[in-house]
Amino acid sequence: MPGTPLTRSFIDELDHDIHTSITDTTEVFAPFTGEKIHDLPVSAVDDVTDAATKARAAQKRWFATGFEHRRRVLLRAHDLLLERRELLIDALQTETGKTRGQAFEEVFIGASATRYYAVSAKSVLRPRARRAGIPLVIRTQVSYRPKGLVGVITPWNYPLSLSLFDVIPALAAGNGVVQKADNQGALSILAARRAFIDAGVPAELWAVVTGDGTEIGNAVVDAANYVCFTGSTATGKKVAARGAEALTAVSLELGGKNPMIVLDDVDPRTAAQNAVYACYASLGQLCVSIERIYVQRSVADAFTREFVARTAALVQGPAFDFSTDVGSLTLPSQLERVQAHVDDAVAKGATVLTGGSARPDLGPLFFEPTVLTDVTDEMDCSRNETFGPVVAITVVDSADQAIAAANDSEFGLNASVFSGSISRARRVAHLIDAGSININEGYRATFSSVDAPMGGMKQSGLGRRNGREGILRFVDARTVANATGLMTLPRTGAEFAKLSGVMILMLVALKAIRRR
Ligand code: NAD
Repeated sequence: MPGTPLTRSFIDELDHDIHTSITDTTEVFAPFTGEKIHDLPVSAVDDVTDAATKARAAQKRWFATGFEHRRRVLLRAHDLLLERRELLIDALQTETGKTRGQAFEEVFIGASATRYYAVSAKSVLRPRARRAGIPLVIRTQVSYRPKGLVGVITPWNYPLSLSLFDVIPALAAGNGVVQKADNQGALSILAARRAFIDAGVPAELWAVVTGDGTEIGNAVVDAANYVCFTGSTATGKKVAARGAEALTAVSLELGGKNPMIVLDDVDPRTAAQNAVYACYASLGQLCVSIERIYVQRSVADAFTREFVARTAALVQGPAFDFSTDVGSLTLPSQLERVQAHVDDAVAKGATVLTGGSARPDLGPLFFEPTVLTDVTDEMDCSRNETFGPVVAITVVDSADQAIAAANDSEFGLNASVFSGSISRARRVAHLIDAGSININEGYRATFSSVDAPMGGMKQSGLGRRNGREGILRFVDARTVANATGLMTLPRTGAEFAKLSGVMILMLVALKAIRRR
């Protein structure tokens, strides 16, 4: 196959798994070469409705199987993801143009999330006794019921890991899923889904639909009891508004303009080495990628020199092996956006320290990792997400100035602090308005910690994925409480007159022993 190691028959098999009854298709191209990968079958609105009906029926049976069964199935899928990793990595590289290393990371973290939810769902969701309003007289228990049908809408940049972050906890909690895959990421998702089907997840329980973002996205929101959306802030707001019409709750994982602070006690060489990865992995097409660096003056020259040298030395190109450090942009619209941000910045006075240009000699969508300085507020790249390999370095005079600059953004997704002292870095981290903050790392420390919540503040999102929070999204809590009969609660004025004094004494006593 041109532009991909995947075979035609494998691609055909995956295309066959899309839930559609129509013959419409859309062309999908390989970022590395620009060659057509396949005519992707697309779904109609009726297909979403049909998929939802079938997934709802399958959900009832799936929920009835219980936690132990679901744990076994998901752990089997984990093993299949690892066994099939080369194929999954091929699919990811084919569709996104990322390097083999960064595609490997997707599989690694997708498998981690699968194991985590398989093992932890039962302990998070088992029924639990809670403190009763009146000890001994009332007994209270909370249990969780799955939402039913979860709609998952995913982007093209991390199709495998971002899908599994949402789909697997939803399944582990006993839900069904209808997922709208971005057309550019559908093969990667379908290849991963096969591992779960082969492990025992009923095919109809997790349906994948494709097609027009608005039309099919709206249909998914309308069909679901809960929606997980990952994508741009602009689209996220539309999803929230659509969900609100039916009071369907949503979680939104949106864009960022992620800052890194480099404090004056770093080893500039080591800091620069780690910072480069944080900016250019997946060629900056990662929601948690760093696009702004604030470096303290005393280390600025040494840090910038090293950062620029290491950026310029990155090996870029199309390769289905580990021989490259950075790959390609994914879509022509991405190339246009990245070039426009650089051109605008240069026209308004920014300095390009390295990069700044497309590399058509490598492939149609390659763009050089780019370092800018002298970036000012009038430039498009100053406050808007580039979602590409463009980072602005700004020198600051103090840690306070760096924190203020980092927080001066409508976004609050991810941030990074580099310091020679972890305790100093932690103090700074607690002053940054972001859902995740990485110390001496760009994003991988938090991104890989699947037991910890991930999400955005401000315009970067709503709700959290991963960790306990990531499972609790997919259930409704129900409280069941009973009177034990030890004492009858007062019903009449006479009974209140008799018991109110005792009840007040009880409150005083509970406070005295600091009981919740
Ligand atoms: P996008 O918002 O254009 O599309 C995301 C998905 O939504 C796609 O599947 C698309 O088809 C679908 N969609 C489009 N219109 C829709 C509508 N009206 N209703 C429902 N669905 C609709 O985003 P994109 O360009 O694919 O992805 C890039 C953006 O996603 C960046 O801003 C990036 O920061 C963000 N992102 C965030 C995270 C995170 O975890 N916070 C992760 C990855 C990407």
